Amino acid sequence: MSSPLKLSNLSKHYGGTAVVDGLDLELAPGRCHGLLGPNGAGKTTTLRLALGLIGADAGTVELLGHTLPDAANQARARVGVVPQMDNLDPDFTVRENLQIYGRYFGISKREMAARIPSLLDFAGLAGKADAPITTLSGGMKRRLTLARALVNDPDLVILDEPTTGLDPQARHLIWQGLRRLMAQGKTLLLTTHFMEEAERLCDDISVIDHGRVIVQGSPRELIKTHIEPHVVEIYGEGLAEWQACASTWCHRCEQAGETLFCYTDTPEKVVAELETQPGLRYLHRPANLEDVFLKLTGRDLRD
Ligand code: ADP
Repeated sequence: MSSPLKLSNLSKHYGGTAVVDGLDLELAPGRCHGLLGPNGAGKTTTLRLALGLIGADAGTVELLGHTLPDAANQARARVGVVPQMDNLDPDFTVRENLQIYGRYFGISKREMAARIPSLLDFAGLAGKADAPITTLSGGMKRRLTLARALVNDPDLVILDEPTTGLDPQARHLIWQGLRRLMAQGKTLLLTTHFMEEAERLCDDISVIDHGRVIVQGSPRELIKTHIEPHVVEIYGEGLAEWQACASTWCHRCEQAGETLFCYTDTPEKVVAELETQPGLRYLHRPANLEDVFLKLTGRDLRD
């Protein structure tokens, strides 16, 4: 099966600055691909280019077998989009929002009436068909936006930060929904700032910064390739003194606020040493995707 989305050497400039800068990305069918990057890295612009909502300055976009921009409408007919901001129509009910969205795809009223019960069921909103949007919680609105993206039974679903602003319960419900979509063989492309979300959901990950892909691989591969396997987080009294000779016990250290992160292959040496330091507290854990992300993109705040 061919790739649902292939971006080749894609570039986009705003005001003379390259926001997307020679970016390559190829999605594998039926898999979930995570696009990670700090604020301003170019993720949303990449998604907009991929959908043909804006034109590229250079490079090519192949979306579901169509080359953009010429066949953007035909390609988009088989794509579902969950935007970063909920843009449900507050003047209409849950059911009406789905009906109206169906019209954009030329789906008849009768066909939509047949599809709506399963979409509501998917969203966990079966009892809410006639509820006004204003009465829904944030989590319900997100689930409805996700269900709305499925009205045209898309092959590819693109999600821009699908769980930002949700509490853990609501987030887990969205994850459940996304897993169901994957089980149906749909391809997912999502951006997220939650590394745990990416690690749990994504088969493949591209970390992008300054408009370029800096690394690509499965979460497990990225952790194995780019970071030491163990982390010891250390804080407490006497940290500065301990840090001065930390390189004796750990391979690489990074300070963030009051905490020292020691990355190492041999955590037992660090832990044994820390046991002799009554003022210091520590947490020993396996390295995760967030450690990789911070190593590759830095700890400085991006606005
Ligand atoms: P991300 O989604 O990774 O946070 P974006 O793609 O939204 O990044 O933005 C990347 C950069 O491009 C930012 O510096 C942003 O200000 C800039 N940018 C995005 N869209 C526009 C636009 N329409 N006009 C000017 N600058 C833009």
